[in-house]
Amino acid sequence: MLTRDRQDRREETEPAARGNTPSPVLLGALGVLVLLIALQALVPGAAADLLHSLVAIGAVLTGLFGVLHHRPARRRGWYLMLGGAALWVLGDVVAVLDGGLDVSSNLPALSDLLSLCAFPVLAAATLDFSRARGGSRDAGAVIDALVVTTSVGVVIGVFLIAPLAETSSLTLTTKAVGTAYLLGDLFLLGVLARMYSVPSAHTLSYTLLASGLFLMLAADTGYQVTSLITSSADSNGLVDAGWLFGYLLIGAAACTPSMRELADPEPTPAETTLSLRRQAALVVALILPGMVLLADGFGSAARHWPIIAAGMLLVCLLILVRILWLISTVQDQSVRLEGLVRTDGLTGAPNRRTWDYELKRATDMAREHGTSLCIAMIDLDKFKTFNDTKGHQAGDMLLRDSVAAWTAQIRPPALLARYGGEEFALLAPGFSPLQLATVLERLRSVTPHGQTFSAGVAQWDPLTDPGKAVAAADEALYAAKRAGRDRVVIAGDEPPAGPPTGPISFTSITVKADPIRPADESGPPLASRRGRRRVHRMPKFEMVTQPIVDLRVQQVCAHEALARFDFPGTFPDTSEVFRQAYREGFGDLLELAAIRAALDLPDRPKDHDLYVNASARALMSARMRTGLPDDLAGVTIELSEDPGDVDMNDLLRVVNDLRDRGAGIALDDVGAGAQEFARLAMLQPDMVKIDRTLVVGSAGDRGRTAVVRGLVNYAESMNSLICAEGAETARDLGHLAALGVTHAQGNLLAAPKPGWQSLNPPTGFTPFVPVEPAPEPETAWTFRPPGYDDLSYDNPAFDPNATNPLVIRQDPED
Ligand code: GH3
Ligand code: MG
Ligand code: MG
Repeated sequence: MLTRDRQDRREETEPAARGNTPSPVLLGALGVLVLLIALQALVPGAAADLLHSLVAIGAVLTGLFGVLHHRPARRRGWYLMLGGAALWVLGDVVAVLDGGLDVSSNLPALSDLLSLCAFPVLAAATLDFSRARGGSRDAGAVIDALVVTTSVGVVIGVFLIAPLAETSSLTLTTKAVGTAYLLGDLFLLGVLARMYSVPSAHTLSYTLLASGLFLMLAADTGYQVTSLITSSADSNGLVDAGWLFGYLLIGAAACTPSMRELADPEPTPAETTLSLRRQAALVVALILPGMVLLADGFGSAARHWPIIAAGMLLVCLLILVRILWLISTVQDQSVRLEGLVRTDGLTGAPNRRTWDYELKRATDMAREHGTSLCIAMIDLDKFKTFNDTKGHQAGDMLLRDSVAAWTAQIRPPALLARYGGEEFALLAPGFSPLQLATVLERLRSVTPHGQTFSAGVAQWDPLTDPGKAVAAADEALYAAKRAGRDRVVIAGDEPPAGPPTGPISFTSITVKADPIRPADESGPPLASRRGRRRVHRMPKFEMVTQPIVDLRVQQVCAHEALARFDFPGTFPDTSEVFRQAYREGFGDLLELAAIRAALDLPDRPKDHDLYVNASARALMSARMRTGLPDDLAGVTIELSEDPGDVDMNDLLRVVNDLRDRGAGIALDDVGAGAQEFARLAMLQPDMVKIDRTLVVGSAGDRGRTAVVRGLVNYAESMNSLICAEGAETARDLGHLAALGVTHAQGNLLAAPKPGWQSLNPPTGFTPFVPVEPAPEPETAWTFRPPGYDDLSYDNPAFDPNATNPLVIRQDPED
C-alpha cells in the first residue's frame, strides 16, 4: 500500500507523465469535429448554420478539456484565448438565432457586439503568451510588430476601409461595424506578429494556435472583401471553412502536450538576432505602402495619398528607430565583448591573451628606448590545500581579492595579468630586478586571507626572445618554491634559505597636513589644497647607531644614526629603499621619519653629537625642513651625494639655515661622487667623511694615500674634522691616522647596533701607534685593491683575538 507521502509525490509527478500524450478522447473529439466540418459543406441552409455552431462550440469545449487535461503552469493565457473564441462562437450563435443582420436598424446587432468584444480578449491572451515567453525583454520585437501592422494597415485602409466608407448604399452603422471588424483584425494581426517575433520554441501547439488565429483573421478579411464586392451579408463556403478550421486549430492547440510550454520563457533571449524571416517581413512591410501608392496612382488619381503617406512615414520612422536601436545594442555588445576578450572573467585582471600582446609591446618599446624591462611570475602558495579545505568558492574569492589588493599597489605601465590558474605575471617596464623585487615585497605584504605567494623575477635581455625572460622568471619562481615558498627570488640569485621570511610589516603613518607646498614641485603635496591629509604607507624600520671615534683621544665622540629596514633577506640595500620611496613620492618624508626617529632615540649620551643622514634632495623639500626641529644643537647632518640635480646656491642657503639652527654639517661619502670639489668649496663642512673606497686598502696604495692627504690638507686649512668611513682593518686605520685623519668609523671599532655603544672593547686602550705610509707601492694602482671586497672579519689584516683593535701591529716586513 502506498503511504500518503508517496501518493502525494505520485500525484505531483503523474500529470506530466500523463500529459505527454494527447488524450484519445480529445483526439476523437477533434476527429468528429473535422467530419462535421465536411458535412457542413454538403448540407444546405439552416442545417449548415446549426452544424457551424456545433463545430464552433465543440472546438472551444475540446480546447477547455485540453487545458484541464494538460494543466499548464500558466493557464491565464489559455483561458483568455478560449474565452475570446467563446465570444466569437456566441456571436455566431446569436446571429443564427436572429436570422441575419437587420440592415435597416441603426444599432449594431448583438451578435456583432459579442464578436467585436472577442478582439481585446484574444489580444490580451496573445500578449500574455508573448510576455511569458520573454517578449518584455525584447523591445525590438514590439517595433517589428508595429512596422508590420502599420504597413498592412495601409493596405486595409486603402483597399477595404476607404471603399467601405465610400459605399453609399450602406448605413453608417454597417460601415462602422465593418470598419471595427477590420481594425480588430488589424490589431490582432499586430499582437500575433509580436508573439511571432519573440524568439522562442515554435512547438506544435504554438504553430496550431498561431495558424488558427491567422485563419480567423484571413476569413474575417475575406468576408469583408466578398461583402464589399457582392454587397451581401452572406458568407461563402470558403470563408465559412476558414472560420471553422480556425476554431478547430485553436481547440487543437490546447489539446497537444506542448501547450504546456507555450508560456515558457526562452532561457537566453537573442538580443540582436534578426532572423532571415523577420528581415524579409520588415523588407516587405517597408515596400508595401509604396506599392499601394503605385496601385492607387495607376487605378485612379491617387485618392488615398493621405493614408498611404502617413503609413509610409510611420513605417520609415519605426524602421529608423529599429535600426538605431540595433546599432546601439551592437555597439554596447562589442564594447562588452572586447572587455571579455581581454580580461579574465573571475578576477577582472588582464588575461593571458592581453599579457602576450602587452609583453610584445613592452619589449618593442624597451628595445626602441634602450630601457630595462623586468618580468615577475607569481604563484600562490599551497592554493590547492586552500581550495580543498575552504572550498572552491573561497579559492575564487582569494584570487579575486588578491588581484584587487595587488593591482592597487601598481601603476601603469606596470601590468599584472592572470597567467593561468593561480599564477600571475607582472610586467615592469623601466624596473631593475631589485626594484621589481621591492614591489613584490609590497604585494606580499598585502596578500589577503593570510595567504602567501612565491615569485620569480627576471630581466629581459634585449638580444633574446621575451619568452626566455618568462622562462627565467618561472625558473626563479620554482627555485623560490623549492627553497620553502613565501619568498621572492631574482633569476640567477641564490634563493634566500631558511624558513619563510613572512611578509614585511608596513606601518601606516599619517603625516600632519602641511600648508606649505614643497619647494620642489616634483614631490606630491603633503596636503591637498583643501587640506585633506595624505597617508603614506611607510616601510617599517628601526634605528641603529654606530660610534664615531676620535682617533686623537681614542674615544667615542659621536654616533651616526642609521635606518635599518625590516625587509628580511630580500634586499638589504637601504639606499634602494629610499630610491623606491622617492619614486613613490615620499622619499623626503621617509628621510624625515628616519631623522625624527634618530632624534627621539632615548638616553642619548649628553656630550656626544648625533650624526643623521640627509640627501640634498630631501633638504630642498620644504616639508622636510619644516618637519625638522628648530633647535638642532648637537646634531650634525651628513649630506650624502645624490643624483638629484640640486642647485648649489639653493643648497648653500638651506645649509646655512640649518647651521643657524645649531646643526653641524658633514659631507658624506667624499671620494665617491662627482661634485666633491664644488661641495667642499661651497659648503665648507664641519666634517669630511672619506668614502670607504678610499679607506679600504689605503695602506700601501699610493693613489688613495695621495687623495686622503689632499683631503686632510683641506680639513686642516678649513679647521674641519676628517673621518674615515668603513675602517675595517687595523692596518688601514693606523695608516690613515698617521696621515692626519682625525676620526674613524667602522665595524672594526663598533658595528651599527641598536642602542648607544662604546668601543670594542670599551676599556683598556693602549697607546696608539701610527704606521708610516709605505714608501713604495706594492702593486700598480687598481680601483679595487685586494681586500676591498673582503670586508668581513675573516680579513687576515684584522686579528679578532687582539685585546684592542686599536692597537696596530706592524707587519714584520714593514
Ligand atoms: P604550490 O605552493 O606548489 O604552488 O602548490 P599549489 O597547491 O598552489 O599548486 P597546484 O598547482 O598544485 O594547485 C593549483 C590549484 O589551483 C589546483 C586548481 O584546482 C586550483 N585552481 C586553478 N584555477 C582556479 C580557479 O580559478 N579557482 C579556484 N578556486 N581554484 C583554481
Ligand atoms: Mg600555487
Ligand atoms: Mg600552480
